Amino acid sequence: MPERLISDVLNKPDAALEQTLRPSLFAEFVGQSRVKERLEITVAAARQRGEAMDHILLSGPPGLGKTTLAHILARAMNANIRCTSGPAIEKAGDLAGLLTNLEPGDVLFIDEIHRLQKTIEEYLYPAMEDFKLDIIIDQGPNARSVRINLPRFTLIGATTRSGLLTSPLLTRFPIRERLDYYTAEDLQRIVVRSARILQVAIDSEAALEIARRSRGTPRIANNLLRRVRDYAQVKGDGRITREVAARALAILEIDEDGLDEMDKRILETVLVKFGGGPVGINSLAVAVGEEPDTIEEVYEPYLILEGYLKRTPQGRVATERSYRKLGLKPATGAQPTLF
Ligand code: ADP
Repeated sequence: MPERLISDVLNKPDAALEQTLRPSLFAEFVGQSRVKERLEITVAAARQRGEAMDHILLSGPPGLGKTTLAHILARAMNANIRCTSGPAIEKAGDLAGLLTNLEPGDVLFIDEIHRLQKTIEEYLYPAMEDFKLDIIIDQGPNARSVRINLPRFTLIGATTRSGLLTSPLLTRFPIRERLDYYTAEDLQRIVVRSARILQVAIDSEAALEIARRSRGTPRIANNLLRRVRDYAQVKGDGRITREVAARALAILEIDEDGLDEMDKRILETVLVKFGGGPVGINSLAVAVGEEPDTIEEVYEPYLILEGYLKRTPQGRVATERSYRKLGLKPATGAQPTLF
């Protein structure tokens, strides 16, 4: 059972490895050159003025470097960073605790900020705008509102769904940057860099092979590199050549275009079960056994970018390319048939 073997030889937990591979300086952060340039200017300007940076919203699909950039920004500012996420802030008191513990210039990083409860979000508005927090203490007749002054801090919000942010929250971020999928060449550079850190020998062609199949996403590129490294270690001499990479990726069922099992299941469902669409996101989610949010945030953007799916007001529609991908051809009015 090769897959079992592959996971058995992973000698470090993924989170720790991810930490090791995460770039900590702008100079190490590959790609996204426009975003990087603008953020470097923000840092330089804030440093010259001796102030905290303006609040920054980073959006884009998972694994593209939002958390990494937040850490790079804090480090470039010589500031502490505190990390939390929208769903982790359950009560207004949790947020008050985080905010009142900040030092001047600190960065508060809130991942998945679109999942913050609306009632808690309202406490953030004056905190972001006026650096003040109004909290209610006591209950019943003794309840009273107390205003706390906060140090000037920078909120960095990350979201996979900026469309779900309320407009009062959105407008309180003077700086908004969207990260895009990476080119194969950028991902190749990331794979080569990660291989150097992991001390594994890799050919540039092999790095490109991994890059091409990583759905434009650095996190996936790093994950695939680790799996391929395991394969090279167990089945070869440890060196990753293009051939070794291709064989390892075949075992992982990552195909030539980087689509994984779920991508293919989604395409097949739209094509076969729903006759090519249009199909609504909820019906599609039930049919493939995945959460609608996950389909919208993780799978669909890449399938749309690569031209496999189209989003129409009526729902998702398969394109010519997905028929070709699955070796099916559109049938007039009926179920698609095999070539
Ligand atoms: P997000 O917060 O957008 O989900 P992360 O910042 O956690 O993504 O990035 C996932 C991993 O991908 C990081 O640990 C890092 O190793 C790698 N990574 C992301 N962006 C880059 C980049 N531009 N250059 C090099 N590595 C990157």
